[in-house]
Amino acid sequence: MIDPVLPTYNRVDLVFERGEGAWLFTKDGQRYLDFTAGIAVNVLGHAHPHLVAALTEQAGKVWHLSNVFRIEGAERLARRLVEATFADTMFFTNSGAEALECAIKMARKYHYANGAPERSRIVTFEGAFHGRTLATIAAGGNAKYLEGFGPALEGFDQVPYGDLDAVKAAIGPETGAILIEPVQGEGGVRSASWAFLRALRALCDEKGLLLVLDEVQCGVGRTGKFFAHEWAGITPDIMAVAKGIGGGFPVGACLATEEAAKGMTLGTHGSTYGGNPLAMSVANAVLDVVLADGFLDQVQATAARLRQRLAELKDRHPAVIAEVRGEGLLIGLRTLVPNGDLIAAMREEHMLAPAAAENVVRLLPPLNIGDAEIDAAFAKLDAACARVAASLTASEGAAA
Ligand SMILES: *Cc1c(COP(=O)(O)O)cnc(C)c1O
Repeated sequence: MIDPVLPTYNRVDLVFERGEGAWLFTKDGQRYLDFTAGIAVNVLGHAHPHLVAALTEQAGKVWHLSNVFRIEGAERLARRLVEATFADTMFFTNSGAEALECAIKMARKYHYANGAPERSRIVTFEGAFHGRTLATIAAGGNAKYLEGFGPALEGFDQVPYGDLDAVKAAIGPETGAILIEPVQGEGGVRSASWAFLRALRALCDEKGLLLVLDEVQCGVGRTGKFFAHEWAGITPDIMAVAKGIGGGFPVGACLATEEAAKGMTLGTHGSTYGGNPLAMSVANAVLDVVLADGFLDQVQATAARLRQRLAELKDRHPAVIAEVRGEGLLIGLRTLVPNGDLIAAMREEHMLAPAAAENVVRLLPPLNIGDAEIDAAFAKLDAACARVAASLTASEGAAA
């Protein structure tokens, strides 16, 4: 009999009753160190008092308003994001995929508004992940996610990640934009070099293309800057944001320059829930913390300390860990064993982390972890690697 919850996920059989900071607790009081953080969502950990207070306060006022009315929280969040980023304007959504949908529509509409409707094609990259809607699976180009879902949305030309010559070769008279994750999350925690991003910016300027960034996973402080592209010293024309911006409440946004947004006039796009007052209250509270003086410096310092311990871990377990990669607190451990084996062993040690492509285990802790969590993570990873290494030796023994 089919599970009442559509069985599209292979779920871990654990039920968490509550969370506190980087820790999750089961009903029977077992404690797990959470370096999944809802896949880079819970940037301030679980039950952060400032976020709880913001949501609770808003819950007693008004939950939902149609976007036919002004929503104060949305106006405030937009003003603050305009001030803190390249953007002049934005559209709020409930998820990353919806933010990307808006970005794709906006890029196409821009060229339409310029009298070049044929420029609807977008150059995308191998290993990309942009969501699970029909448009975003087409943009992501992962055959596994497209299979069986009928004709894929036309208009995406995929090239190898980081290959500038391939990008140039893919650009034709119908190309209107380039869409890229500055750091690929699901794709295996792969970084395009900052030089590559700068080259894409220059190419877009030269060819009249829009540079569209997907910072759904790598944005909102994850790499130690508010947004990852700041490391490259460039700005996009359009950017999709979600995950961390809501700190655990579903929030997304499509940010844009005034020029890039010029086709998105009255009535061209909409959402019932996008910019919902509850969502906006939490996102504003997230910004209170993430944009406070010193927070992002702290993230960089935390990342440096954690990565130093991970380098030590790799040295201690050369048969298990091949590489530590990523930016800031978007970290990938490429493993020499199946990544699922290490994740299972970590779970035995009461530590949670998600997988990624290229046999990578992702470490996505809340951004506000301290030395206690770093020490706990090292101890648990060390024990998990030892478990995996021991089973390797045992199976070698059995084979011999
Ligand atoms: C998670 C993710 C998305 C999709 O976000 P949803 O909220 O799941 O729709 C898009 N792009 C990237 C880079 C992501 O990591």
